[in-house]
Formats: sequence, C-alpha cells, structure tokens
Amino acid sequence: MEIREFPLANPNFPPRTLKLTESWIDFPDNDSLAVCVCFAGCQNSCLGCQSPELQDYRHPDCVLWDNLRTMRDEIARHCLRNHTNKVVFSGGDPLASFNRDNARALLDMLYDKYDVCVYTGFSIDEVKKMGLRFKFVKCGKFDLKSKRKSFKTDDVFCLASPNQNFYDSNYDLISKDGILCFENTMERILK
Ligand code: SF4
Repeated sequence: MEIREFPLANPNFPPRTLKLTESWIDFPDNDSLAVCVCFAGCQNSCLGCQSPELQDYRHPDCVLWDNLRTMRDEIARHCLRNHTNKVVFSGGDPLASFNRDNARALLDMLYDKYDVCVYTGFSIDEVKKMGLRFKFVKCGKFDLKSKRKSFKTDDVFCLASPNQNFYDSNYDLISKDGILCFENTMERILK
C-alpha cells in the first residue's frame, strides 16, 4: 500500500496545538462530540481575550506537528474513539497568517470524511478570499464591550459576543447576532 507523506505547507511555522481533546460545546450542532484542535498563535489582539496564553505561537504546552499526515491520523484516531466525524479548529487562530497554509492543507486532507468547523477572528469577507474547504466557520473577533455569557444547549448556541457568527460552507450566515438555533431535536429524531 502506498503511504503518502504530507509535508508541511509552511515548514517555517509547523502547527503547534494543545493536546487534542473532545467536547460537545464547540461544534455548531447538538448531535455529538467533536474533536478540538486548538492552534497556538493569534494576531487579532482582541481586548479581553479569553485565551491570552494561546496568542503566543510558542506556547510551551503545545504539541509540535512536523508532518500533516501524522496530524491527520491523530485527528482520525480521536474521531474514531469518540464515534464522531466532527472536528473544530480553534485557538489562538488557525487562520493566523503563519498558521493558515498548514490549516488549509489539513482542511483539504480532512474534507471528504470529516465535518470541520473553523473558529477565527477574521471576518467572513476575509475568509472568503482564503479559499478554504470547511463545513462551518465561526467569524469575528471577541468584542469585550458586548461580552455576554457563552453557552450551548440542545436548542441554541449563544456566542460570547453578538458580532461573532456562524456561516456554512457556502459562506451563508446561519446564526443571528451570535445566536444559532438548532432544529428541534425530537422532531429531527422522529423524521
Ligand atoms: S481571536 Fe481569540 S485567541 Fe485571538 S485575540 Fe481574539 S479572543 Fe484571543
């Protein structure tokens, strides 16, 4: 069997992420767990940043990935273990200029089998120009002035500031003022 290597798209800035984890709270549906890939490094400098330590690309607690195949395989292993095909790229900012090329290459590798939601501080207009393949994207910097409690239930996902919103793979807005309503769970199950 041929084993293809996937060298880094940007070898000067190998992806650095926190150890992969699983969560229910981060993916924009109310179905199942998602595997979280939390990239170190961010250039957005949001006032009141909720993860200031992750603004630093050299965050000391991060795993450094020197090969995208290894990274893809590890994500796949976590998905298998958690019976999910959902993945969240968060951070930091996976689309920071130094992270973007590797994130893009990884998104391409995952696209056929996995539903990936990317969290970024960039606007949807900026994301459109990046030519990325994802299932969902959450756009917008954190706005301290309109900060509110972020939460997710079976019915709704409320983001930490109302300027942040979710978009689908066609760049269509699927939330309003940072609030995404889910289709009724029971109706969906009974369909
Ligand atoms: S995008 Fe996120 S990690 Fe980056 S500065 Fe804003 S809140 Fe912090």
